[in-house]
Amino acid sequence: MESTKYVYSFKEGDGKNKKLLGGKGANLCEMTQIGLPVPPGFVITTETCLAYLDQKKGKEGLQPEVAEEIRNAMAQLEKETGKGFGDPANPLLVSVRSGAAMSMPGMMDTILNLGLNDETVAGFIRLTNDERFVYDLYRRLIQLFGTVTFHMKDEDFNHIFNGLKKEQGVREDVELDAGSLKAACDRFLDLFKEKTGAPFPQDPYVQLNLAVESVFKSWMGKRAVDYRKEFKITKEMANGTAVNICTMVYGNMGNDSATGVAFTRDPATGENRFFGEYMINAQGEDVVAGIRTPKPIRELRKDMPNVYPELEKLRHTLEDHYREVQDLEFTIEKDKLYCLQTRNAKMNAAAFIKTSVDMVNEGLISEVEALLRIQPDMLEQLLHPRLDPDAKAEVLAHGLPASPGAASGKMVFDADRAESKAKLGEKVILVREETKPDDIHGFFAAQGILTSRGGKTSHAAVVARSMGKPCVSGCEAIVINDLNREAVISGVTLREGDMITIDGTTGNVYMDKVPTIEPEFVEDLLVLLEWADEISELQVMANADTPEAVSKAKKYGAVGIGLCRTERMFNQPERLPVVQEMILADTPKEREAALDRLLPFQKEDFKEIFRLMDGDPVTIRLLDPPIHEFLPSAEELSDEIDKLGELKQTVEGMAVLPDTLKMLDPELHDRYTVNLDVIIKGLEELKAKHLAGPMIESKEIMLKKVKSLAEINPMLGHRGVRLGITYPEIYAMQIRAILEAAAEHIREGGRVSPEIMIPQVCTLEELKWVHRYVTRINGDVEKKYQIKIPYKFGTMVEVVRACMRAGRIAELAEFISFGTNDLTQATFSFSREDAENKFLPLYEERGILQHNPFDVLDIKGVGRLMRITMEWARKTRPDLKVGICGEQGGHPESIRFCHHIKMTYVSCSPPRVPIARLAAAHAKLREKEFVLD
Ligand code: PEP
Ligand code: MG
Repeated sequence: MESTKYVYSFKEGDGKNKKLLGGKGANLCEMTQIGLPVPPGFVITTETCLAYLDQKKGKEGLQPEVAEEIRNAMAQLEKETGKGFGDPANPLLVSVRSGAAMSMPGMMDTILNLGLNDETVAGFIRLTNDERFVYDLYRRLIQLFGTVTFHMKDEDFNHIFNGLKKEQGVREDVELDAGSLKAACDRFLDLFKEKTGAPFPQDPYVQLNLAVESVFKSWMGKRAVDYRKEFKITKEMANGTAVNICTMVYGNMGNDSATGVAFTRDPATGENRFFGEYMINAQGEDVVAGIRTPKPIRELRKDMPNVYPELEKLRHTLEDHYREVQDLEFTIEKDKLYCLQTRNAKMNAAAFIKTSVDMVNEGLISEVEALLRIQPDMLEQLLHPRLDPDAKAEVLAHGLPASPGAASGKMVFDADRAESKAKLGEKVILVREETKPDDIHGFFAAQGILTSRGGKTSHAAVVARSMGKPCVSGCEAIVINDLNREAVISGVTLREGDMITIDGTTGNVYMDKVPTIEPEFVEDLLVLLEWADEISELQVMANADTPEAVSKAKKYGAVGIGLCRTERMFNQPERLPVVQEMILADTPKEREAALDRLLPFQKEDFKEIFRLMDGDPVTIRLLDPPIHEFLPSAEELSDEIDKLGELKQTVEGMAVLPDTLKMLDPELHDRYTVNLDVIIKGLEELKAKHLAGPMIESKEIMLKKVKSLAEINPMLGHRGVRLGITYPEIYAMQIRAILEAAAEHIREGGRVSPEIMIPQVCTLEELKWVHRYVTRINGDVEKKYQIKIPYKFGTMVEVVRACMRAGRIAELAEFISFGTNDLTQATFSFSREDAENKFLPLYEERGILQHNPFDVLDIKGVGRLMRITMEWARKTRPDLKVGICGEQGGHPESIRFCHHIKMTYVSCSPPRVPIARLAAAHAKLREKEFVLD
């Protein structure tokens, strides 16, 4: 049997094999091999982690063969560094870090300074002659080891440490002297023993093996599992974590030492400028955890002029090598620079777009690479609102602009409250001194994050940016008391539940809700989407029903309107009563009279839409929903009729009040007679205006009609083309409105491509029926205007029978559009509302369905039906135009499938058009990877 290799040194590991070595490990190997200053170390593979987690229950400890390979690798490290693990004369210390194939910032655990014990501490002090430095390392090790490996509470350690600072009268950690840090170590060791029941392990290998085990276990810890779930990280993407063991270098060796994190470009804006933060005389965790507010990287130029140019060089080498913006961690030990980690930077969408376009212009990457590095769904972030510049709001406090965008919500002071309040539908802002990985569920729940400490690379900032949520960090003006659930900001006390607004673009914090406005389309995105359009084969259209939505769709780059739902044009306040009149009509003649009044409205809307689309196709769907949807419900009407009846009686009773009062109590009557007269006059007016016979009667007529229209299952009832056939006047009016609008637009010099689309069709005969009206009315209109109208006639496919009869339907339909909202309901026999409210969430949770099929196209079922339909339909009409206009049409995975089956276009809501354009390009670029079933 082939023997498994568990451990790879940085010099030998394959830098491309992230699955085996994790992202961090692979990069450490690659950086080592291209000659960057990485301290020596090795990686324990993700497969080792999986094997460990797979061990039989009851089997404790690392697998012996793994422990042995680790020992051998440590021996190698000792050779390379000339130090000894556990050797007091020259102790080798290491860091232990997790690292999965996908970066999960702050999700897993890290332990520093491993290898220290009472003896090596003494030896290291002799060697460095720096008692303060060594005790600082030791106290960090005890805390990290205790919390990560034995799940001790950070608060317990912090309580001791803050107590010491208070005793010494200092604010910053660096102000504590050697004696205090030694005292911290002693107290930490006592705490360790008290909480774990055993002394802190003195054997460095016991420390190392326990640390490796706890990193392995953290893969299945709640925060890692939650993170993978939220970001849909599947086993194929990352399975198990690797462990990186790296020789320690020290950023806390005095003022010629430092530690920092940096991005090769600004991750908030994408600007090509070095961006980062550092702290002199500190260890890495201080920066990431946001314990002290660090300095911006540009100041390092002054603080350490010898090292800064090397750091700049490192920045360029990394970008040139990875051809991607990098997020790196570095340490400077006595003026020598080390790179401890690099990974592709997580950025918001705006930054991704800017860097994509810039890197193409700089010749660093190709246009295709630029497109592929942006996940289409990410563009959704660009739809985040920003504060209305005209809003008058007073700034309450100012922090660091850590993640752009604006959000309002009620303040909550811990992640659990954020989660529970969000579940109740409340919008919340998570307010913390600083955040930790344990707070991750609060990030998911909150609209935005506000912290009083920490910089732009603190945990809160990094995680918020990766989620595209607004974040203001390091807002020191806020004093938080999370026990009392309140915060004092510039003298104002705010409590849990108080509304605030944060602006992650400026760092401002405001009291109350500040109005926001829609974002603008950035120039770079236009450039990028043009590159996308050149590549894609699928066209992207939009579902839009009003001129406003159509102009938005046009702005976002839709090449046509794939679905204009005409019924939505009926819902405006001045139109609804006319629509109701049409429905209540007893004879076709009465109905036509109402329709005649609706015609100009529809015609004007269509004309405006044609004008906006300037010759691009506009697919107009004739009336679809059951008509009772335009009327009040029977319950509402009965209720109103009852109330009006009661009111009428009361008013009539009031009319006899003065006489009755006069009879019973003349004195009282005389006193109030003037007031009574006024009231009675008012009531009479009310009666004449609202309670007259016809008022109540008309409601009663409506109630009767509503009752007669009631259906057991309206969504499968009298709707769509069925309505068009039973009330031909309705479709006739709509067809006339479309064709006359087109004729008038052409007469005014415009171009039009109207496409008349019939909903809910299940047989060719239905289509023929409507087609006859179209031909007749078109004849009239062409005669009237003496103009030929280039219209197309087609149908929605949203009924299973229509799929089965697609070959016949295509004889008449010049285009078809899959209405996958209805088609999904029909294929599953699920009613959407009931499914989504009752059992779909559980189906998804249990893995019975991978996705909600109303969001993501069910490729295996509904998709297969679509393929068959297209095959049959195109046999009849090879050039048949085929689209999709259900909600799934804007989802990247669905778009990939639509490309694969050679659909002509997808149509989605206007804001999703940019996402769909990019997804269509991705679908083409990645078509070879697509496997069906
Ligand atoms: C559909 O069924 O997918 C569709 C677009 O029509 P509607 O959502 O209006 O029923
Ligand atoms: Mg439908």
